[in-house]
Amino acid sequence: MPDIVHILDKELLTREDLIRLLTVTSKAERDLIFQKAAKVRSENVGKNVYLRGLIEFSNRCEKNCLYCGIRTGNAQVERYCLEEDEVIACAQHAFENNYGSVVIQSGERTNEDFIIKIDNLVRKIKILSHGKLGITLSCGDQSKETYQRWFDSGAHRYLLRFEASDPDLYYKIHPNNKKHFLLNRLNSLQYLKETGYQVGSGMMIGLPGQTPENLADDLLMLKMLNVDMVGMGPYIEHKDTPLFEKRDQLLPKDERLALSLLMIAVLRILMPDINIAAATALDSLADDGRMQAICSGANVLMPNFTPLKYRENYFLYENKPYLTEADALIKKINESGNLNGYQIKFGEWGDSKHFANRVKGLGFDS
Ligand code: SAH
Ligand code: SF4
Repeated sequence: MPDIVHILDKELLTREDLIRLLTVTSKAERDLIFQKAAKVRSENVGKNVYLRGLIEFSNRCEKNCLYCGIRTGNAQVERYCLEEDEVIACAQHAFENNYGSVVIQSGERTNEDFIIKIDNLVRKIKILSHGKLGITLSCGDQSKETYQRWFDSGAHRYLLRFEASDPDLYYKIHPNNKKHFLLNRLNSLQYLKETGYQVGSGMMIGLPGQTPENLADDLLMLKMLNVDMVGMGPYIEHKDTPLFEKRDQLLPKDERLALSLLMIAVLRILMPDINIAAATALDSLADDGRMQAICSGANVLMPNFTPLKYRENYFLYENKPYLTEADALIKKINESGNLNGYQIKFGEWGDSKHFANRVKGLGFDS
């Protein structure tokens, strides 16, 4: 216990410190970490929670990640791609409900048709909202030119998780071939930054075979990449994927949730001014999983705006809370009375403070 107090007082956390924080066993030690994270959060990004309306554009994907329910090799999935007017209607709905931003997420495709579709969507969402809706993209690995094209059209944030920073673990959860190279993802993150995006990355927590050392290295990778935003969440098994075979190695759900929340708190301490999203996958482990994440240091929430009829086909993992509509989620949060003073912010982009500090050459890791 005294060593935890000492670690939490340090300016710079080492790998050993992170491992120690991620392996605490007593409630008293955990509480100290969460208290510190709450303090760091209030001092650096305040108590606001920013909203992004999530639009799951398409479940067609060229990749075969071994954990993902919409991988190209899963023949059980009915494939869809939203029509342009359907996406525009979702964005309009978000705009009318005073959301500051939307996220367009999709399975990964690199053909010209897909690139043009995303490009048109970005431009049309900008037009419908008179430039007021912020746009985050999460459409996987693309060429430098494509990132530039989408940026020029109006997207200003991009989420691309590296999923696991340890190459051994990474190739246990991805096919080891050119299409899935870890280095491509890391290069993409660099291109995105050079293009001028606010860049987000992250990983899955509780993967089979993942150790506390791996998680500490993942956190250090985020710090080294100097990301502006993080989306990290628990790995949830999906029966139609190869990784399902290793389900015996998984932590029980309550422990996976507890570890995910601890990771959020430790990340908040490590990178005080970034945006951290409360991952949807947390709600697969507990009804109020995302709310627990907000109370642990996350400051971004991404309610789902995808039309209901498509949602059951965007099952990246099992038990995905696909029936929760965006409006219902906000209502539930407002009614729960359990926001601990955190305030949902409508009508604001809620850009990453870290990004602002980074471009000004100020602050942490600039
Ligand atoms: N195709 C894009 C974006 C969609 S996938 C991409 O891969 O970047 C978005 C995220 O869903 C992935 O980054 C991955 O971390 C997460 N995901 C996929 N399968 C999952 C699973 N079984 N459990 C938890 N998260 C999963
Ligand atoms: Fe495709 Fe993304 Fe799923 Fe990988 S994680 S299979 S890239 S949708």
